[in-house]
Amino acid sequence: MTKIAFIGLGNMGGPMAQNLVKAGYDVCGFDLVPEALDQLAQAGGSKAGSMREAAQGARVVISMLPAGKHVESLYLGDDGLFNIIDRSSLVIDCSTIEAEVAKKVGERAEEQGISFIDAPVSGGTAGAAAGTLTFMVGGSAGIVEQARPYLEVMGQNIFHAGGAGAGQLAKICNNMLLAVLMTGTSEALKLGIDNGLDPAVLAEIMNKSSGGNWVLEKYNPVPGVMPEAPASNGYQGGFMVGLMAKDLGLALNTAAGSKTATPMASLADNLYKMHAIRTGSTKDFSSIIQLYDPVN
Ligand code: NAD
Repeated sequence: MTKIAFIGLGNMGGPMAQNLVKAGYDVCGFDLVPEALDQLAQAGGSKAGSMREAAQGARVVISMLPAGKHVESLYLGDDGLFNIIDRSSLVIDCSTIEAEVAKKVGERAEEQGISFIDAPVSGGTAGAAAGTLTFMVGGSAGIVEQARPYLEVMGQNIFHAGGAGAGQLAKICNNMLLAVLMTGTSEALKLGIDNGLDPAVLAEIMNKSSGGNWVLEKYNPVPGVMPEAPASNGYQGGFMVGLMAKDLGLALNTAAGSKTATPMASLADNLYKMHAIRTGSTKDFSSIIQLYDPVN
């Protein structure tokens, strides 16, 4: 049975690793949070005491970490996995990070004969649990094919965006648009609510009209409209405000490099910063709708 090391078992990595267990792989996970390790063990995987222990004897390493600094240190740090894993290993990083960091890790992997792709995802925690994620992959076509059987367990759509770092660039563009959609959709819903409309009815109307979008279809920010959405669970779980703020920073830095005008993303970035100042960074990003509420 192929051993897979899975590093980062949070809101996304936890369910992704569990789907690999269900598909029959020997998954050994590592996370800094003991409860995350316990959940993988309960699902039939095994838990390691360190990332190095998880990677011992693994043919495939998958990471799902918060940001570029975590990924860089996991693979390239003094204690990093590139110093210990087998040359024939396949490494798949699914975290959303700087394209530059993905390229740097990819170059080091190539120098050492390790197969590496950047493979960030879209689809949220529901997509991670259902195994229906969209993967946006950067790397050589041969390595993408090598990774495909594992990606197909965790996702439904696998796009090869281009060379190293291209997956990250596609993901950054997508999340910049998602931030704009979430803030704009929250504003439209709030206008309706403030003028007496039922948000569930309004959402249904807009979703079947020219304003229809993914937020209205799958991730309504108003509590009670969608029982499964983070909004109906106190904005817990899901995709944290701090992670969306990170992704907007990645988009704006990339835009500065290419001298691309991104006025909508700049506004969304400021709205998320104001929201984080008022309520912190750990709620789900759909809680941005609370920014439109009067202060008590
Ligand atoms: P999360 O904070 O829930 O999970 C990250 C996990 O990594 C945590 O459990 C944390 O303990 C662990 N971790 C941090 N440093 C570690 C280390 N050195 N070794 C081992 N474990 C470590 O975040 P998430 O929502 O699962 O997001 C993970 C990545 O996926 C981020 O890059 C995010 O931008 C991206 N993403 C998230 C979503 C979403 O809907 N949540 C969707 C698409 C992409």
